[in-house]
Amino acid sequence: MSNNDTLFQRAQLSTPGGVNSPVRAFRSVGGTPRFIQRAEGAHFWDADDKKYIDYIGSWGPAILGHAHPEVIQAVQEAAARGLSFGAPTEGEILMAEEICKLVPSIEQVRLVSSGTEATMSALRLARGATKRDKIIKFEGCYHGHADSLLVKAGSGLLTFGNPTSAGVPEDFTKHTLVLDYNNCEQLEAAFKEFGDQIACVIVEPVAGNMNLIKATPSFLETMRRLCDDFGSILIFDEVMCGFRVALGGAQSIYNITPDLTALGKVIGGGLPVAAFGGKASIMKHLAPLGGVYQAGTLSGNPVAVAAGLTTLKLIQAPDFYSHLSAQTKRLADGFNAIGQKHGLDFCADSIGGMFGIYFNSKVPTSYAEMMNSKNSAFNQFFHLMLDQGVYLAPSAFEAGFVSIAHNNDIIDDTLRLTDEALSELKK
Ligand SMILES: *Cc1c(COP(=O)(O)O)cnc(C)c1O
Repeated sequence: MSNNDTLFQRAQLSTPGGVNSPVRAFRSVGGTPRFIQRAEGAHFWDADDKKYIDYIGSWGPAILGHAHPEVIQAVQEAAARGLSFGAPTEGEILMAEEICKLVPSIEQVRLVSSGTEATMSALRLARGATKRDKIIKFEGCYHGHADSLLVKAGSGLLTFGNPTSAGVPEDFTKHTLVLDYNNCEQLEAAFKEFGDQIACVIVEPVAGNMNLIKATPSFLETMRRLCDDFGSILIFDEVMCGFRVALGGAQSIYNITPDLTALGKVIGGGLPVAAFGGKASIMKHLAPLGGVYQAGTLSGNPVAVAAGLTTLKLIQAPDFYSHLSAQTKRLADGFNAIGQKHGLDFCADSIGGMFGIYFNSKVPTSYAEMMNSKNSAFNQFFHLMLDQGVYLAPSAFEAGFVSIAHNNDIIDDTLRLTDEALSELKK
């Protein structure tokens, strides 16, 4: 038995399913999860010392590659000064200033420790500031695991949602309207019917939790206009795409100004930092200034902030994003060419340092199209790649991530192995 098998058996005794976040358990693709012992640059090594090219990058944070020496040094220095104080530090100001500078729609920001906390708090803030209860989200977008966001569409077109998780009372989701991503007509209809009751619309402007699906510009423009017309708050959940698709996030690419933005993943550089922020006129409703309560013992933790701040500094290097985007596009273009060569329904797309691989005839633009992809082919492909030392997201419904450390040799190796895997798959 491999060390991964032994560890997985042992983990299942003390932890439900052997993992601390479900996708890590490989349930979707089958097989034994790899237990990672160390990582450097574009690679990590499992418990059997097998080396992989890593295309999940901790689900986004590892944009500089793993264990970047400057980030590690900043963390070590911060740790030596003490781990946590429960009182403010200058580092938190620097971090807030940096976020406000890089994302101009954010005039004020509050730091939290996870993306879930960021979206949950932004939602509460939107409800508190508008004194309205109803919210709109889109099928296939993931916003963390707060109760009122674990919702799927109701039975009718414009009926309120049903819980997607046991343990969430229907009462908690009855204010959440779930609509189709990239469907402007439905959005118009929902506002026509409920507009003056809608506290906020929350959206991933580049969706990365139903594989990669880009919003159409008109979808986001319609949303912005309707929120303005009805006094609703527009929340961009950029926990994944923020600092990942561009330095200013998806909002800088689409040139749309949300009222509030949720950030996470990259801004912690691998440690638990997330944030939500936006217009000062909305943020002033937060405690201690206003009546919307929000707090955190480890919020703005000095060690985590040191990792985040150093990461935010390093991604501002000249040409960082043009280089990252070019590397990711090289990978996606390569996937497309190999898919065509083999005559398979296999294609790819990318934006900034994020990519999607689809067992579809063309790149999906909606949740429904994504659900039509060939799951079993993906699962076979995943294992063929894993055996060859390429670690892709262990689910057909997750996006992939490239770091600045994924150089041409690494990308080209990946493409050569993809060619071999698809030849094998055709048999
Ligand atoms: C990862 C993610 C979250 C949740 O963040 P956690 O840190 O896992 O709680 C929320 N929204 C989006 C878009 C995400 O990708």
